[in-house]
Amino acid sequence: MNGHLSIAIDGPSGAGKSSLARRCAERFGFLYVDTGAIYRTVGLAAYRLGIDRRDTDAVSAMLPTLDIQMAYNAEGEQRMLLNGEDVSAAIRLPEISICASDVSALPAVRAYLMEMQRKMAREHNVIMDGRDIGTVVLPQAELKIFLTASAEARAERRMKELAAKGVPADFAEVLRDIQYRDEQDSHRAAAPLKAAEDAVPVDTTSLDFAGSEALLCKLIREKLGVEAVK
Ligand code: C5P
Repeated sequence: MNGHLSIAIDGPSGAGKSSLARRCAERFGFLYVDTGAIYRTVGLAAYRLGIDRRDTDAVSAMLPTLDIQMAYNAEGEQRMLLNGEDVSAAIRLPEISICASDVSALPAVRAYLMEMQRKMAREHNVIMDGRDIGTVVLPQAELKIFLTASAEARAERRMKELAAKGVPADFAEVLRDIQYRDEQDSHRAAAPLKAAEDAVPVDTTSLDFAGSEALLCKLIREKLGVEAVK
């Protein structure tokens, strides 16, 4: 125990983790930590350097040359800095999602990023989302949620997100990317995506955002005994 509360939200890509975690964090006054953004930053670095993202030696050699910082702007949004450059937009491109999934399968990458994530939880009340937060990064989290939805529902949501950002996308391609990442994230040897034994499963396939938010807020109130501030 370090005096701070932790909520872990894990699940496959596009289940709504980040938007729900962000909203719940805002409502309860917790810090939202998007760990996918950290893996994306490593994926982007490998992509830009033309490094084979599945080559452990090449990626391991790259890691100590990178300066990866997580910062929060005045609006409380998490920004990712790579060697001093704000790459928060660049890491969202679909090709970088695949790069992130590739590098995140390497144990060296996971070990390298572990302390950055744990430090955030030692210093703040956090809602942290990812793939292995409840199982590996914060096994002592007071509340663990495993958020899922069907692959088609997740692809539809991703299409809307990309459209809102003006990024053109093709449904079949988005669905294929999601299925590729599901497969790779669930079957890798290092910290595969799976629910912690004590995680509460939440399936949002037939829930809209408000319904999912209400359900998560209820779980947070009940499990942590805290009240929303907003
Ligand atoms: O959550 P997001 O889709 O941004 O994550 C990008 C990729 O990073 C995922 O497909 C997954 O492979 C990897 N990831 C991970 N562990 C985390 C968060 C993300 O392996 N805690």
